[in-house]
Amino acid sequence: MNIETTPNDLLARWDRDHFLHPSTHVANHARGDSPTRTITGGEGAHIVDRDGNRLLDAFAGLYCVNVGYGRREISDAIAKQAQDLAYYHAYVGHGSEASIILSKMIADRAPEGFNHVYFGLSGSDANETNLKLVRHYNAILGRPEKRKIISRWRGYHGSGLMTGSLTGLKTFHNTFGLPMEGVLHTHAPYYLHRPEECEDMDPAAFSLWLAQELDALIRQEGPETVAAFVAEPVLGTGGIVPPPDGYWEAITKVLQQHDILLIADEVVTGFGRLGFMFGSDHYGMKPDLITIAKGLTSAYAPLSGSMISDKLFVVLSEGSDRFGPLGHGWTYSAHPICAAAGVANLKLIDEMGLLDNARTVGSYLREGLTSALSDHAHVAEVRGEGLLAAVELMEDRDNRTPFDPDRKVAAAIVSRMLTKGVIARAMPEADIIGLAPPLCLTRQEADQVVDAVKNSCEAELGWIRP
Ligand code: PLP
Repeated sequence: MNIETTPNDLLARWDRDHFLHPSTHVANHARGDSPTRTITGGEGAHIVDRDGNRLLDAFAGLYCVNVGYGRREISDAIAKQAQDLAYYHAYVGHGSEASIILSKMIADRAPEGFNHVYFGLSGSDANETNLKLVRHYNAILGRPEKRKIISRWRGYHGSGLMTGSLTGLKTFHNTFGLPMEGVLHTHAPYYLHRPEECEDMDPAAFSLWLAQELDALIRQEGPETVAAFVAEPVLGTGGIVPPPDGYWEAITKVLQQHDILLIADEVVTGFGRLGFMFGSDHYGMKPDLITIAKGLTSAYAPLSGSMISDKLFVVLSEGSDRFGPLGHGWTYSAHPICAAAGVANLKLIDEMGLLDNARTVGSYLREGLTSALSDHAHVAEVRGEGLLAAVELMEDRDNRTPFDPDRKVAAAIVSRMLTKGVIARAMPEADIIGLAPPLCLTRQEADQVVDAVKNSCEAELGWIRP
């Protein structure tokens, strides 16, 4: 079978008949009732599909193609590594030049006190590794009962059994019997959706309330049973929500008071998306473990990592003297081809000045969205940080009344945007248009995104002044 010469209609049939896609309506896809798109190429912030459409990808795939599409520096590095050494494992001290160099490059970029990384392939498996390392750490310290994990409603941490349990979105729990035992959820730091009892609070007071709620949950469970709190610096899939003022400071106090580890899930935010190398640094978080994935290779090859702080490393090393080697391994951990992609990608992020670009073009994009949309009666909020932005829509923004979910307002707007050549993402459990373009986005491209959001909102909802 030749990929290039297989006709479109045949591919479409094979797609319907054989391909079970993630996050896709199974029956509609099989019947051919839902749209599909076959992507063939990309360059910079654009992708090209098999029908010849060129689209501005304002979600960078799944917020991952941070350097943009078609970078020869990375594809050449992948090709060279595949020719020299496509695979060798990383067990019992083995490695490749690329995986060793990448470990050093990650340590050089990591927040202070982080010098070690365990490689995986996906954000989900890296979080799974983190959960195991946390258990192992407490077992070494002689307190194996300290193993419950607290995450947040609307957090996203993957879709395995444990990581899907951490994820605080109902579609990832329903019908799967999740969350699993030992995973608890606390409130999302989502000021716009704050509970009624917090109605009159300002963001700083809301942060203190959230910290008190976390403290109460820990006390109720027994601090001796709670091992870690896992959180994204900015809520990602749960709505693209930067934390309210003082949030991380207040939460950190509670965690430290109860000797609970903090896992910062930086799968989206790591390596520049917020305009800083890590969100942990930007928000003054004090994590003990950091999850990395997407931006590590800009998704040119699948690679993730669990970074551990020196505090954990000391205990894990001491543990191996007592218990033997770490009983945790993946066949493809530190895969040489993926590591080579990582090395080339991190170099490119520096050479292209993408952190600066994420900050400056990110502010430009948010300003553009704000001035184009904030007068719209249904635009409840324009928010974001760096090149992560969201526009949230509500039926009545003054009373924070959402649209009827069955109207699927954000999904309809995102579909309209597509007809204008711009890809955005409707985020779950509210009407939110999510934007996370490649970090190389230009101002001109940002203007195009703003126009597409504005025109699509107007077309869907009319232009209603408050
Ligand atoms: N953590 C966060 C913050 C994510 O956004 C994601 C995916 O979007 C994951 C973990 C899971 O990563 P993966 O889909 O590679 O398993």
